[in-house]
Amino acid sequence: MTVDLTVIGGGPVGLFAAFYAGMRGMSVRIIDSLEELGGQLTALYPEKAVYDMPGFPIVQAKDLAAGLAAQGTQFDPEVILGVVATELRPGSEGYVLTGSDGMSYLTKTVLISAGAGAFSPTRLGVEREDEFLGRGLSYGVKSLSDFENKSVLVVGGGDSAFDWALNLAPVAKSVSIVHRRDGFRAHEETVKAVKAQGVGLLVWKVIAALDGSAGLRSVTLEDTKSKERERVACDALVVNIGFKSSLGPIKYWGLDIEKNQIVVDHLYQTNLPGVFAVGDVCTYEGKLKLIATGVGEAATAVCVAKGLIDPGAKFFPGHSSDMVQFAGQPAELET
Ligand SMILES: Cc1cc2nc3c(=O)[nH]c(=O)nc-3n(C[C@H](O)[C@H](O)[C@H](O)COP(=O)(O)OP(=O)(O)OC[C@H]3O[C@@H](n4cnc5c(N)ncnc54)[C@H](O)[C@@H]3O)c2cc1C
Repeated sequence: MTVDLTVIGGGPVGLFAAFYAGMRGMSVRIIDSLEELGGQLTALYPEKAVYDMPGFPIVQAKDLAAGLAAQGTQFDPEVILGVVATELRPGSEGYVLTGSDGMSYLTKTVLISAGAGAFSPTRLGVEREDEFLGRGLSYGVKSLSDFENKSVLVVGGGDSAFDWALNLAPVAKSVSIVHRRDGFRAHEETVKAVKAQGVGLLVWKVIAALDGSAGLRSVTLEDTKSKERERVACDALVVNIGFKSSLGPIKYWGLDIEKNQIVVDHLYQTNLPGVFAVGDVCTYEGKLKLIATGVGEAATAVCVAKGLIDPGAKFFPGHSSDMVQFAGQPAELET
């Protein structure tokens, strides 16, 4: 299926673009390398408070991400997660994007909201890591039910690791956190809650080896101070030690790139016709890497893309508060 607009990157700016394009009657596809929408808000600082969102004196990043995802998927875009957009080439109706899943995605226009590039989980860097991926080892939790009655080790000392441990504790047989130090980056309250749930804390330990045949059966822990090793039985290992990002394939699409950012004009157009770049990934004089400015860039870019697809369409669509598709919907917001 050829969509009107493909949004590369489901971070805050891409999600707002998807919403705005849906509101303008465009068919939309969102592609993100992560398994979850929200970009940096979800991957890097879910528990931090954000103070510069219009209308929200304070909002937790993960709540902002949830709101943006709800708004961004309001017009039912096709959402493709866990896939990196690897190739962009001209097609008969615009462009053909190739994904890391090997699929070709047809689109009339493209909006790149790729932030600092595709996020991928930081790996443990131990032998047999690929072999056990999906067979006991994961870099996140897709469904809590996969962990029912299992002995789970969660690796990491940040908010995500502690959040997963907290969520897994009621369903798993046992949960322990493995961390290379005895200090945690996670929010103090979450650490307290994790301890109260009976989650074990294996500190000053790293994963040195993975063991099993058909699936993961145990791991070897190494003490970071004494270097002593011990084998610990487990059914599941959830690795949560951060994310890396890389602009990667986007660099080879023929776009003008300066210092890892895509050069755009005042309408957020790149040097490729029908390809826009907004949010942290774009650069122009006066660029601010903020969500508040990124979503404004997205609204403008979407209106320009709309005009390319439907030359009769007005540039300014009017106010959302006057739009028929919202009539009656926000009733619960009225006091
Ligand atoms: C610790 C921290 C605190 C911050 N606090 C604030 C704050 O208080 N206020 C504020 O306004 N801003 C803040 N920021 C900055 C803000 O998070 C960014 O400006 C914002 O996330 C940019 O949004 P984006 O949608 O452009 O990109 P991102 O949020 O980076 O999302 C880009 C998405 O695109 C995906 N992607 C990239 N390339 C590909 C590809 N080829 N294929 C598939 N998917 C791809 C990535 O996986 C990612 O999910 C903070 C940033 C950090 C790190």
